[in-house]
Amino acid sequence: MLKSIAVMTSGGDSPGMNAAARAVVRTALYEGVKVWGINNGYHGLLEEDMFEMQSKNVGDIIQRGGTFLGTARCRRWQTPEGRMQGFKNLVDRGIQGLVVIGGDGSLRGAQLLSQETGIPIVGLPGTIDNDVWGSDYTIGCDTAANTIIDAINKLRDTASAHRRVIVLEVMGRRSGWLAMVSGISGGAEYILVPEVEYNLDEICDDMKRSYEAGKRYILVVVAEGVGSGKEIGKYISEKTGLDTRVSVLGYIQRGGSPTVIDRVKASQLGERAALAIISGLSDIVFGFDRGNVVSINLHDAVTNKKKLDPEYMHLAKVLA
Ligand code: ADP
Repeated sequence: MLKSIAVMTSGGDSPGMNAAARAVVRTALYEGVKVWGINNGYHGLLEEDMFEMQSKNVGDIIQRGGTFLGTARCRRWQTPEGRMQGFKNLVDRGIQGLVVIGGDGSLRGAQLLSQETGIPIVGLPGTIDNDVWGSDYTIGCDTAANTIIDAINKLRDTASAHRRVIVLEVMGRRSGWLAMVSGISGGAEYILVPEVEYNLDEICDDMKRSYEAGKRYILVVVAEGVGSGKEIGKYISEKTGLDTRVSVLGYIQRGGSPTVIDRVKASQLGERAALAIISGLSDIVFGFDRGNVVSINLHDAVTNKKKLDPEYMHLAKVLA
């Protein structure tokens, strides 16, 4: 049994990180274990910016987007010397294990720390991109998808009024998950994701035929991993002559009050992470597989590339 643990958020922020950190803290306190909060990810760990937490420190945060602990990107963490310094800063405070909530990069940094120092590490996938291998869910992906749907609903109104083609570029880094689920649930005609090859000339021809047959407007959702929405929109406009507008949603997708799904799942994951690290487990990431919490080997999670569910790809094709 560990007596003192720490929690941090790292990398890109995502809605629900607060719920996860809150659950880690309150579970640890419930189990009678000391728990530290580290501000600003690995950067804060190197700067010794951390404090012992009480239950009230995580009050009034479950409904907030972002992360109350702050997050950062930290170059020094990419060096073994930096990680050794971080380890020392933990040991100096008697911290025996660390929960890292973050994306792909943060989990990779955590895996290296564990490998090099032996300190127990448990990871939680915190990113809107839903791109962590082994889990069909990452903290924040549901809120981000709902934000995109809201934008799509609004864009539809103006697209319909003007008979426009709307190209909407959404986040996701190299993953098409966000584009795919928001495109499906927003009723997009075309969804361009990095995982599926597409032929823009064929799409343009198809669009022209649809307009000739009386279609009022067309919605194209583009994952940022495919390329620039602006360039795709320009190409469509030139090739089809249709009135085309491009919208790049940007950082709005990262923010906002987390949805019920993100709050509940992040809380479940936070509890499991705290219980696991307290009992001395290490090198695991908790995620979800078809509704159930599962543990994933940390090394596997950071070395494998997650695939987009083929069922989504099929559905998008059928419903377009
Ligand atoms: P995310 O966790 O959202 O994927 P980043 O990829 O920016 O965000 O990673 C966050 C931080 O994790 C980086 O600033 C760095 O400190 C650490 N990190 C990322 N990749 C590595 C790596 N390969 N080795 C060590 N640390 C890393």
